[in-house]
Amino acid sequence: MARGLALLVIFLGLTGCLRTNASAPAKPNRTPPPVVERPIAPVPEKAPTASAARWFQPRSAWAGQAIDTSNVEPMEPIYRLTVHHSGNAEDATGDSKAQLRQFERAHKGKGWACIGYHFIIARDGTVFEGRPLKFQGAHATGQNNVGNVGICLMGNFDQRPVPKAQLDSLRSVLDRLRAQYGIDRSEVEGHSHYKTTDCPGKYLRQFVERYKKG
Ligand SMILES: [Zn+2]
Repeated sequence: MARGLALLVIFLGLTGCLRTNASAPAKPNRTPPPVVERPIAPVPEKAPTASAARWFQPRSAWAGQAIDTSNVEPMEPIYRLTVHHSGNAEDATGDSKAQLRQFERAHKGKGWACIGYHFIIARDGTVFEGRPLKFQGAHATGQNNVGNVGICLMGNFDQRPVPKAQLDSLRSVLDRLRAQYGIDRSEVEGHSHYKTTDCPGKYLRQFVERYKKG
């Protein structure tokens, strides 16, 4: 009898246990909490690597010929910037790298060490390194090249206005070099400041005049 009771208690206990589980209220179907938009933390700036710091396509990206280092002066302290155009309307429409090689062939043909400009800006605004800055340029005649960075925009800007991308790049290059070398706006000139020439063309000359005024 006692054993029967004990079994009954166990049975009731089990069914109770089962019933309790079976009748446990289902968890309410709660709507998920709203997604809180958190401000995205700024990505910390990585220390610039040699390649990440480049704001121009290096000479090695296009040059087919070596620099004749026996025929070039080291750059004196940089204190002025001179803007040129290539003067050929077709220069702005073709393959920029092929065009650069053509400039270099022409300049080497004059007996120069390599292309005479330090930077060349293509129609799409891409900035190319020409003659490395450690060397004096060959772009403004004789002593005018001393301490003078030569920047050439591909195209003829007597014939048409300078495309915006090219002008934006020029402004950026001038700002950057002025900051880097502590150059005053008054030391930014067009080629025609140094000699009688159409370079850098009337439209580009207008930009240089505006830029000098700040
Ligand atoms: Zn020029």
